[in-house]
Amino acid sequence: MTSAPEFIVEPHPHPVDAVTRAAMIENPGFGSVFTDHMVTIRYTEGHDGPWGGWHSPTIGPRKAIPLDPATAVLHYAQEIFEGMKAYRHADGQIALFRPEQNALRFNRSAARLAMPALPEELFLASIDEIVRTDKDWMPSVEGGSLYLRPFMFASEAFLGVRPAKEYLYIVIVSPAGAYFKSGAPAVKIWVSEDYSRAGPGGTGAAKCGGNYAASLLPQSEAIAQGCDQVVFLDAKEHRWIDELGGMNLFFLFDDGRMITPPLGTILPGITRDSIMQLARDEGISVSEEAYAIDQWEADAKSGKLVEAFACGTAAVVTPVGEVRGKHHNFTIGAGGPGQLTVKLREKLTGIQRGTLPDPYGWVRTVAGV
Ligand SMILES: *Cc1c(COP(=O)(O)O)cnc(C)c1O
Repeated sequence: MTSAPEFIVEPHPHPVDAVTRAAMIENPGFGSVFTDHMVTIRYTEGHDGPWGGWHSPTIGPRKAIPLDPATAVLHYAQEIFEGMKAYRHADGQIALFRPEQNALRFNRSAARLAMPALPEELFLASIDEIVRTDKDWMPSVEGGSLYLRPFMFASEAFLGVRPAKEYLYIVIVSPAGAYFKSGAPAVKIWVSEDYSRAGPGGTGAAKCGGNYAASLLPQSEAIAQGCDQVVFLDAKEHRWIDELGGMNLFFLFDDGRMITPPLGTILPGITRDSIMQLARDEGISVSEEAYAIDQWEADAKSGKLVEAFACGTAAVVTPVGEVRGKHHNFTIGAGGPGQLTVKLREKLTGIQRGTLPDPYGWVRTVAGV
């Protein structure tokens, strides 16, 4: 057993003052306000310490990271990330939602991108450390959270095509407002028929920046078509529904069955996994099944398909109201949020925010807050 990781602590010499901080987190939106600190942990091939090649875990001021122009990530995109939220509960504790799942997924992504695994204890300790340090950045607005962004990239400077020998792991924190003020409005999604997000054997199941780079053009196409998000089909037949650019999909039928596309080329969402469990608790029969876009349209038009929603950490659960595409045009139910969608959203957010019981032990409080 290795002992608990000891972080090198470098407090920020000029942290944001309390008054400015309060103004910054009053209405932070998403992804543009950042806290004072960040975690960094370095990996050097051949280093032999208690954490293998990982060393120098540090909590210090959030600041720019100088990069040599030959840094590997800038050329061959060896980069992965995670996204998770910390909520403050009524008892003052700060809670994370299934963070060990993020740690495991991070290492599955790392393996696919030929990067070294980060010991799970180090990942979890880094999250606790940054939350304790920057807890005063927690927005007090209802539904507010600290959005945590752990990521890792190839930091070695070289231009050969091979896995790097040096990596930098960083955690930054962004205070986030309630994603939607009153419930989630239904979104309009655009079926991408020309572009795919992921193919068999590719990186679709890894949370890597490159997948997002590939989704930006189709996402702009969706916006240009007056839609909010893009839905990707499988790369081979352009027929089977995969997922949105950053959210998994669920479909509910009039007989109480619910399906979600099977794992493989999609990202295995932790929200997706949790929703399957919560839906089963509601007596819904849930299965992981391929679903064709033409079938979706036919089922929506016949009334057999009654609700559809997308899910992921950032927006939790988002109803899908309308679907558009070169060859598609249909509305789901009445075009607004469906009943089960709203119920599952409330159950999940209730567990995350500590207002509902946590039957599966999904919530993990951060010690020392
Ligand atoms: C992160 C992500 C999701 C959602 O995963 P969660 O663990 O639920 O946040 C879904 N799809 C893609 C492409 C993602 O990157």
